[in-house]
Amino acid sequence: MGAHILIVEDEEKLARFVELELLHEGYQVNKAANGRDALKDALENTYDLILLDIMLPGLNGLEVLRRLQKEKPTPVILLTARDAVMDKVSGLDAGAVDYITKPFAIEELLARIRVALKLHPVVAGAVQQEDSALMVQEGILTWGPLTLDEPRHQVKYANHEISLTNREFLMLKTLLENQDIVLSRDTLLEKVCGYEYMGETNVIDVYIRYLRSKIDDVFSVKMIHTVRGVGYVVKSWEAEGRE
Ligand code: CA
Repeated sequence: MGAHILIVEDEEKLARFVELELLHEGYQVNKAANGRDALKDALENTYDLILLDIMLPGLNGLEVLRRLQKEKPTPVILLTARDAVMDKVSGLDAGAVDYITKPFAIEELLARIRVALKLHPVVAGAVQQEDSALMVQEGILTWGPLTLDEPRHQVKYANHEISLTNREFLMLKTLLENQDIVLSRDTLLEKVCGYEYMGETNVIDVYIRYLRSKIDDVFSVKMIHTVRGVGYVVKSWEAEGRE
């Protein structure tokens, strides 16, 4: 049986769309359209995950989150507006495990749900296996022969050192931390340039091009994949079928 997810969203069409996608993925789904119903439902039932819109009638999402977290540690992914910087910060402070900015690509939401369920299991048995190909050892991320050493701020490919700027380094780190998850330009922009960045998202394409020229081209590998209309992904070395 799939994980049980509560969708809290007052935009009926969006809620219905997400519900259908989640059902299609095999999850069990309930919905709430205002803050009070959501809080009541979340307190009375056991959910593996809650998708929580912030702008809600009755009780706003952040208040629902705060009250819920006092009672039980159900993981929550916030659905936020593009420019609601403070909401994201207070939401993460209040205990949300992640947030996604509206409008979002459904593939990205599904990927974030999978990650949240894996990292924050509520019910025993909710996590089937630890199949993450991502290896984290004292701040070192790897992708086959490539290593990113965060404390030393050093990137190597089979012991050849690669010189990256700060933002290229951050971009690579974000991609490696999210292997097999397609990241949108907006997500990358926030991670690489910060919440406050108001410029064009095509700077992301520029950094991707720099990274490819310093890694993919030099070492004749295909590391960064473009997913048309969605964003970019580094598929795990194993998922690429490499030895
Ligand atoms: Ca809303």
